[in-house]
Amino acid sequence: MGIFSLPVLALIAIVGVVIKAVLYFTAKSPSKNPFKEPIQTPVKPKVIDQKTRDAVLKQGFSKDKVPADLDAIVVGSGIGGMSTAAIMAKAGKRVLVLEQHDQAGGCCHTFIDKNYEFDVGIHYIGEMQYQSISKTYFDQITDGQVEWEPLDETYDEVIFAEREKPVRKYPVRSGKGNWSSDLKKLFPSEEANIDKFFALLEEIRGGNSKSIIVKVLPLWLVSFLNTTGLLSYITDFYDWNAKSCKEVVYGITENQELRDIFCYCFGDFGTPPSKAGFPMQTLLHTHFQKGAAYPIGGASEIAFNIIPVIEAAGGKVLVRAEVTQILLDHKGAVRGVQVKKGKETYDVQAPLVISAAGLYNTYDRLLPLNIASSSRIWPVLQDLEHGPGAMSVFVGLDCSAEELDIIHKKNAWVFTGNDIDKLTLNYLSLTREEALDADIPLLFISFPSTKDPEWDKKYKGKTTMAIVTLMPYHWLEHWKDERVMKRGDEYEGIKKIFGHKAVEQACQIFPSIRDHIDYVNIGTPLSNQHYLGAPRGEIYGLDHTRERFSAWANAVLRPKTDIPGLFISGQDICSCGFSGALWGGLLCASAALERNVFNDLADVHKRGKALKKSN
Ligand SMILES: Cc1cc2nc3c(=O)[nH]c(=O)nc-3n(C[C@H](O)[C@H](O)[C@H](O)COP(=O)(O)OP(=O)(O)OC[C@H]3O[C@@H](n4cnc5c(N)ncnc54)[C@H](O)[C@@H]3O)c2cc1C
Repeated sequence: MGIFSLPVLALIAIVGVVIKAVLYFTAKSPSKNPFKEPIQTPVKPKVIDQKTRDAVLKQGFSKDKVPADLDAIVVGSGIGGMSTAAIMAKAGKRVLVLEQHDQAGGCCHTFIDKNYEFDVGIHYIGEMQYQSISKTYFDQITDGQVEWEPLDETYDEVIFAEREKPVRKYPVRSGKGNWSSDLKKLFPSEEANIDKFFALLEEIRGGNSKSIIVKVLPLWLVSFLNTTGLLSYITDFYDWNAKSCKEVVYGITENQELRDIFCYCFGDFGTPPSKAGFPMQTLLHTHFQKGAAYPIGGASEIAFNIIPVIEAAGGKVLVRAEVTQILLDHKGAVRGVQVKKGKETYDVQAPLVISAAGLYNTYDRLLPLNIASSSRIWPVLQDLEHGPGAMSVFVGLDCSAEELDIIHKKNAWVFTGNDIDKLTLNYLSLTREEALDADIPLLFISFPSTKDPEWDKKYKGKTTMAIVTLMPYHWLEHWKDERVMKRGDEYEGIKKIFGHKAVEQACQIFPSIRDHIDYVNIGTPLSNQHYLGAPRGEIYGLDHTRERFSAWANAVLRPKTDIPGLFISGQDICSCGFSGALWGGLLCASAALERNVFNDLADVHKRGKALKKSN
C-alpha cells in the first residue's frame, strides 16, 4: 500500500468529510430560508363541503392555468413532490406541480364512491402526534392545518390465523420498553433473546440517521470511503444492511413464532425478511416507538392543506396532466416537460424539473433512452427491482363502529401460519391459477373510519375497512393495455375471487362485519398502475432490498442527477412511507435550492419549542 497506509487514507478521508461538511453547512446559498418562523396559525375548522375541496384538489390542467416564469416543475403530486414544491414555494419559488390522476395527493388521495370515502395509501404514520422535527417540518408545509389523531397505544396487532388452530394474537405497544415487556410475559423462556433483539434495534438506531451522509458527500468520496471500509467508522448502517432481517432474527432465537413477530411489519415496506436488510426493521421500530397517528379528516387533508402554500408563491397544482417527456435543450440540460391532455400535448418551460413520479417512470419513460442510459443512475436501476405489486380491498359497512364493536384505532397483521417469510415467498411464486385456490398468507386489515374523529360529520352510521396484501403484477398483466373499468368479465371475475377471499379471511378475524358488508371495491396492481402511476403496480416504489440500501446504490439514489436541471424526489430517494417520501422531499428541495434547508428546519424547530415553553 506504500505511503497510502490505512491511517493515511483514514486521515485523508476524515479531512475530506470535514471540509465537505463545513462547506455544506456554512456555504452561502442563493436561496431564501423557507422556514423563517415557527407556525402559529390557529387551526381553522375543517372544510367538509366536497365541492370546495374539489376546487382545490381537482384543478384540471389547461395551458392558460400555467403560471408564467416558472422556477420549477414537479412531476407527481404525492407527498414527495408536494413537499419539495411547498418548501421551494416557501423560499419564494414559483412551482408548478403536474399530476396524471384526476386529483392531487398520489398515495395520499382519497376516493368517494357510493357515499363511502377511502384512503388509498395512508393508514398510520409515526412522529406526527407530538412535536418531532418531522411534525415541525410538516406543519411548515401545511401552515399547521393538519391535525393528527393518535392511534391506540397498541397500534398494531400480530395475528396468526392458522387453519384448524385457535387464533393467536400479539399486541404491539408503543412507548419505551412496552412491546418488549409484553413479549417477555408471552414468551417467558425467551427473555434474554427478546432483550438481545431490542438492544440490537437500539444499537443500530444511531447509524440509521448517519447513513444519509452518502447522499450529500461527493460520489468519489463515498466510493473511497466505501472501498476502504472507512464508511463503517461513520455509520454501521451499511454493515448491518449486509445482513437480512431473517438472518439476524434467526440468529437471535429459535422460536419461530417470536421470529415472525420480530419481522411482522415487513409489509410496511413490502420486502420479505430474507430479502430486506435488518436496518429496515430498526427504521420502522424507531418510527413508531412513540406511537402512530392518523390525519384527522382523512388523508386528503394532506394535499388539501399543502396546495395553498404552493399557490401563495404563485405556483399551481394541476391534475389530469400526464407528463409524457422531460424536455432537454441541445446541450442536454432540462428545459421543461411535455404534458398530455386528452389528445393534445403541450410544452411547459422551466429551468428545473423535479420528478417525484418514481425513478423507473423517470428513466424508462420520461427521458430519451440515449440520455437515460448514459446517466450514472442507469446501471444501478438495472440492478434493482420494482417493489412488489399489491391488492387493496375497500369495504363499506352499513353501520357504526360501535354496532360492530370495532372501536379500536389499530391495525391487524394477519398471517395464515408461521415462517411468514417462506409463506409469503411461496405465495408470490405461485401462478395466478394456483394462487386462486390458495389462502392469502398476509393481510393488513385496518378500519380507517374508526381512526378519524371527524368521520361521523360526513358519514355517520357507516364504517370502512381496508385490506392490503401483496400481489405480483404478472398475475393480471395480461389486461394491462385494456381501459380501466373496461377490462372485461374474465378480469373482473379473477379480481373478485382474490378480493372476496381476502374479505372472507377478514370476516374470520372480525365476524361482526359479515352481515354488514354493503360495498366492496377491489384494487389490483393494474389499479395502482392507473391511479398511482406505478409502472408495475408497486405500492412502495423501488424494492427495499439489501441491494437498494447498499452504500453505493443509496449514494447514487440522490436528488441531484447528472442531467443538468433534473432532480428526483419522493419515496425512491430515502425510503417508502409517508415519512420516507417526506424526507426525500426535503433532501430534494435542499439540492434544488442549493441550500441546507435541514439547518433552517432544525433552527425553526428549536425556536418553535422555545416559544411553546414560554407560552
Ligand atoms: C395501499 C398503500 C398503503 C400504504 N400505507 C401506508 C401507511 O399506512 N403509512 C405510511 O407511512 N405509508 C403508507 N404507504 C406508503 C406511502 O403512501 C408512500 O410510500 C408515499 O406516500 C409515496 O409518496 P410519493 O410522493 O413518493 O409517491 P406517490 O404518492 O405514489 O406519488 C407519485 C405521483 O406521481 C404521479 N405520476 C406518475 N407518473 C406521472 C406522470 N407521468 N405525470 C404526472 N404524474 C405522474 C402519480 O399519479 C402519483 O400521484 C402506503 C401505500 C399504499 C399504496
